[in-house]
Amino acid sequence: MTDPEFPLRALLAQVRACRACDDLPCGPRPIIQAQGSARVLIVGQAPGRRVHETGVPWNDPSGDRLRAWLGVDRATFYGPDFAIIPMGLCYPGSGPRGDQPPRRRCAPLWFARLRASLPEIRLTLLVGRYAQAYHLPPTDARRAVAAAVRQGPDYGALWPLPHPSGRNNQWLKRHPWFETEILPVLRHRVHTLLRAPLGPDDRAP
Ligand code: SF4
Repeated sequence: MTDPEFPLRALLAQVRACRACDDLPCGPRPIIQAQGSARVLIVGQAPGRRVHETGVPWNDPSGDRLRAWLGVDRATFYGPDFAIIPMGLCYPGSGPRGDQPPRRRCAPLWFARLRASLPEIRLTLLVGRYAQAYHLPPTDARRAVAAAVRQGPDYGALWPLPHPSGRNNQWLKRHPWFETEILPVLRHRVHTLLRAPLGPDDRAP
């Protein structure tokens, strides 16, 4: 019998063997999570150092905050409902202002092929400006992140989010509507897509 997951598994094996950026400061280590059953796709920037070291996506304080935003625990986040594909799959190293941007060659090499292998995706979370620049119309992507985030519920299958890094604490303080108005709607939307039952705090706002 044909294994429906075989094409995706074969592609993931190619991705994980990618060594196109041989000048990465810590070397190539593509970090990705994808199963054909996934309904929610998280598109971030690139792995940080801790994620590079552990090989587990969003396995850091940013990931803890993202899971809190979505109202899911680690088991759900790392389960079959979520796919995780950053714009750059390898840790790009750090610079004076935090981590370097994702490698430019990565998304053209891999993203569209990976996305095409995930037919069940119903919602794509665009975490940070690199993911937004890739997915949103240029006029939307050029605006401040806050403008796109405020429109999150109106984008349909796409949902722009700020990056959950601690570096954005000031942004979060300046935009309290994100936590009070946007996150409850997002949490409900995500939970309607999961196979897990809704919790008492997940009712529609
Ligand atoms: S960043 Fe992307 S293109 Fe570069 S080595 Fe890693 S997987 Fe390959």
